[in-house]
Amino acid sequence: MKKTFDQKKDVVLMRGIGVSSGIVIGKAHLIASAKSDVLPGDAVPVCHLDTSGVDGEIHRFREALKLSREQLRKIKRKLAKEERVKEHIGIVDAHLMILNDQMLISDTISIIKKQRINAEWALKAVMKGIKELFDGIDDQYFKERSSDVEHIVDRILVNLAGGKHEKIEDVEEPSIIVAHDLSPTDTAQMGEGNVLAFLTDIGGRTSHTAIMARSLELPAVVGLESVTRSVATGDTVIVDGMTGAVIINPSDSVIDVYEKRRQRYKKYGRALRHYRSLPSETTDGHRVKLLGNMELISEISSLIDHGSEGVGLYRSEFLFLNRKTLPTEDEHVAAYRHVAMKMSPHPVVVRTLDVGGDKLLAQVDGVEEANPALGLRAIRFSLKHTDIFKTQLRGILRASSYGKIKVLFPMISGIEELIRAKDMLEEAKQELTSEGLDYDAAIEVGTMIEIPSAALTADLLAKEVDFFSIGTNDLLQYTLAIDRVNEHVAYLYEPFHLAVLRIIKSVADIAIKEGIGISVCGEMAGEPEHALIFIGMGIDNLSMNAFSLLRVKKLVRSVSFAEAQEISKVVLGFSTARQVEHYVSSRLSAFYKEEYWS
Ligand code: PEP
Ligand code: MG
Repeated sequence: MKKTFDQKKDVVLMRGIGVSSGIVIGKAHLIASAKSDVLPGDAVPVCHLDTSGVDGEIHRFREALKLSREQLRKIKRKLAKEERVKEHIGIVDAHLMILNDQMLISDTISIIKKQRINAEWALKAVMKGIKELFDGIDDQYFKERSSDVEHIVDRILVNLAGGKHEKIEDVEEPSIIVAHDLSPTDTAQMGEGNVLAFLTDIGGRTSHTAIMARSLELPAVVGLESVTRSVATGDTVIVDGMTGAVIINPSDSVIDVYEKRRQRYKKYGRALRHYRSLPSETTDGHRVKLLGNMELISEISSLIDHGSEGVGLYRSEFLFLNRKTLPTEDEHVAAYRHVAMKMSPHPVVVRTLDVGGDKLLAQVDGVEEANPALGLRAIRFSLKHTDIFKTQLRGILRASSYGKIKVLFPMISGIEELIRAKDMLEEAKQELTSEGLDYDAAIEVGTMIEIPSAALTADLLAKEVDFFSIGTNDLLQYTLAIDRVNEHVAYLYEPFHLAVLRIIKSVADIAIKEGIGISVCGEMAGEPEHALIFIGMGIDNLSMNAFSLLRVKKLVRSVSFAEAQEISKVVLGFSTARQVEHYVSSRLSAFYKEEYWS
């Protein structure tokens, strides 16, 4: 179909970090999220007013309240029409009640008057007081209301700033979402909606938002820095999720070029299906197991459809996100049992909760951390909140009697932490035994190797586990000291850095020597040029998103194990990432020739 465009508008070409391939030509929809420039978290601007400005400020505040009420009523009407979501009307009612709360309104007005200060600042101050009050009450109901207050205040703040407060699920037309930032939770909601692709100002290649986009096969470009200032809702936009190119208001001829490219991409995807049922083995018969990474239960069918030989990484934290209460033990059992049964007889590696960093848990009050990536994340969180951890471990164990489930601990930094996690697992086993509940007593236990301290003590960790799973996303973040969600340091994301290759080689050597399982489940596993090196190192389990499965299988079937071993050996002799890249590209030239962009 021929796309039209608005000739009067300037054509803008931007380049960001292409994090999920695919080409989309469509209309932009700008979302002002709670994380946008319009609303920079706690840092609302402070403006001192003249006496004459006070009334105007109060009026501005009242108008924002009015608009917020109208928006909520509109959402309520929409919900009432849909049977599936009717039950959520109660949440909107609760928000409307908060919006009419006299304390919120009159206290804000009183601060504006007394301190002659802007409405945003006054409102934030009132919210802080209400939150402290609610948080001080030891009751789940009030804790939930506390986050409701925050949502409402966010809405009012966006309206004060003249921004549109729209949620992704409100988008009515098939659109390309443009936002300052999107959380992994936002992205998880895009699977079934009207979202064709998304663009963000910030973000990095291995952020969980990017990973989620790849899982949903949703083209995405992040780290564009100013896309929210360059695009307006309704603009025609081309997104190339592979190269990171974004063209705003393209000419007809450019649209034609990309339309052809889009067709090529689709054809390439269809051609890859040929590999679906072929064995994953090299030309000299070496088997390499290709497994899938998953975040949402709904991804399981796509993994099966792409020929996955099991789930190498189930990021269980997504069970905790997008909801107000913590999952119960039975909910854990139901989720893992479902996946294990669907995947049977293949294994499913359930990784215990990995929150913190760029995935925040709404149900538990977090402390504001200056360095979230180095903070209370993953196993550290679980070992602090042992009730949450135990519930999950019991759930995983109970589900293990229905299929081949393995348990994996994230962000292990050393032996003591690993032993504490294993002790908790043992405790959970004993509880289940005494309650007469079934589980796989021989359940395999693994540790992620994603922190340099774990890699450097891999020989010690190997004695405690059945397998290692190398998380290259975090291993790169912590080895190269680059924040994986920060676009400003994304240029340093260097998978071919010799430090990375050496560290992975040493972990693989230890696992092989100790006779335990070894896999890579970070994003590198799904890139043919990296997978090739891992195979040569003797890593025979690679876990990745659905789309990469067929591409990597094509690679596996195009080389011999001997060749891969030789290539791995040669690259470890280089000194720069660039040399490695050139060498590997030259060895893969025949493979690349058949890629859709060549
Ligand atoms: C990793 O760090 O490589 C990994 C697989 O875990 P996550 O991306 O969920 O942190
Ligand atoms: Mg990780």
